[in-house]
Amino acid sequence: MVDSDICRLCDSAKETVDHLFAGCSVADKVWSGVASWCKVHRFFGFSIRDLVEFHNIVALSKVKKEVFQGIIFIACWRIWKARNELIYENKPVIVEDIIEDVKVLGFLWYCNRPKLQRVSWVDWCSFNLM
Ligand SMILES: [Zn+2]
Repeated sequence: MVDSDICRLCDSAKETVDHLFAGCSVADKVWSGVASWCKVHRFFGFSIRDLVEFHNIVALSKVKKEVFQGIIFIACWRIWKARNELIYENKPVIVEDIIEDVKVLGFLWYCNRPKLQRVSWVDWCSFNLM
């Protein structure tokens, strides 16, 4: 049912854009996984704007900052997809699957950016970029 304004991912707060992508416990676990993968300190966003701008303050090289921002966008899209699959298809939300999809989709996105250095899947999974 879509008639409730409660977040279906956590069932504990009103669903807003900022909650879904920044405040929700599911999103928080996704960001924890992304931080661990990209070797940046654990980050907490309070709004979608924080997430969009977070790459500016992480301790990464210029190239990695750009890639990291792309990963944030992909993760937001994947959280949105998980939310919709839960609501419309009753598909359970598995954080590990979301993070894995972000890695796979991020790798495809990265490999199709002609300006960026080539990277192997193994290096991508360790966020070992030039
Ligand atoms: Zn929630």
